[in-house]
Amino acid sequence: MGPLVPYTHDRDTSGFFEAAAEGRLVVRTCTDCAASIHPPTAHCPHCGGWNTHWRHVAGTGRLHSWTTVTHQIHPAYPTPYTLVVVAVDAAPGVRLIGALPGAPVLHAEQPMRVRFEKLADGSVLPQWQIDETGDAS
Ligand SMILES: [Zn+2]
Repeated sequence: MGPLVPYTHDRDTSGFFEAAAEGRLVVRTCTDCAASIHPPTAHCPHCGGWNTHWRHVAGTGRLHSWTTVTHQIHPAYPTPYTLVVVAVDAAPGVRLIGALPGAPVLHAEQPMRVRFEKLADGSVLPQWQIDETGDAS
């Protein structure tokens, strides 16, 4: 059993993966009301409009939540690893999930930076890493 890979040809989400393959992080955004829409859809749940587009955003965020997995449930994912939920700085309300190797010491609001991981099937997944340069506190 190989590593899990995302389905990248979905009508609503393919643009996310196409941008990632180019090393860009994008968020579906409403052209009419500027709301960030995540999970991405063609329809804006905030204003009801259908005018949405992919907006390039900086690849920085803040650690919202995390959990360290110590019980291995898939042969391709040795433990420990730490799942993180990151709030994207440039897109309020949008949180993306990633995985860090091991069991690092983390704290809430810790600066995170996106990295782009090429998967076994050639698709590219935005992932997160601790941003050692971004913590101004
Ligand atoms: Zn809208």
